[in-house]
Amino acid sequence: MHNLKAPWQTLKELGQSLLYEKAESCCLCSRANGPICPSCDDEFFHPELGRCRHCGKLMSKQKTLCTDCSKERGPKGLDQVAAWGHYTGGWRDFIQTIKFKSQPYLLEKIGRPLADWVIHILPPPDALMPVPMHAERIAERGFNQAAVLASLLHWELGIPLVEGLERRTPTTPQVGLNRYERLHNLQGAFALSPEGLKWGIKGRRIWLIDDVVTTGATLEACADILRRQEAEKVYALTLAAGMDKNLKK
Ligand SMILES: [Zn+2]
Ligand SMILES: [Zn+2]
Repeated sequence: MHNLKAPWQTLKELGQSLLYEKAESCCLCSRANGPICPSCDDEFFHPELGRCRHCGKLMSKQKTLCTDCSKERGPKGLDQVAAWGHYTGGWRDFIQTIKFKSQPYLLEKIGRPLADWVIHILPPPDALMPVPMHAERIAERGFNQAAVLASLLHWELGIPLVEGLERRTPTTPQVGLNRYERLHNLQGAFALSPEGLKWGIKGRRIWLIDDVVTTGATLEACADILRRQEAEKVYALTLAAGMDKNLKK
């Protein structure tokens, strides 16, 4: 016998491979039940917890602001920040793999569950707007992960994508700096882009999109530009945030 296969056999194999594709594994732990398995959902996305309206930190559903924000130590100028998961363990590894190992296509796997989550959290906007990256950094990395995320959500939700901001100064490392030092670092870093000017910010409701929110200084600096242009509402969506001090185990 040679490798001549009846057409139905080929079809059957094709069907099996499609079924196999459907039974995808979890992108955080590689077990079954992807794209995010129930145990990773519990561990990293905490459906039982709320999010701080000002900075996105995961916290008790009984409160509206986290410990930092209730002491005015959070970002200002955002109507609401929605952070999907807790920036730790497998979820942090996933986000870091996208950024530092240049694997933006991994984001495609989580587009649908992220879209399903956020439409229940934030009011619908006029546009999705990624936090911009400086041209030098894009040249180094090859892509801006915030822009990839925004374009993924654009396809999932059918909301216009507007790259309305640009970054004028290259990123200076923010790790180890507190919120005030970060804000100082970011002075003059962002500006309205030609696309943003053409689209017109005044009276618009915008979702700023970024991968991670830590102190919220970056989102605050971007929101400040949009506020000056008289945006009506500025919301932010990120893949991850920290957890309220009072909830840490
Ligand atoms: Zn998992
Ligand atoms: Zn907060």
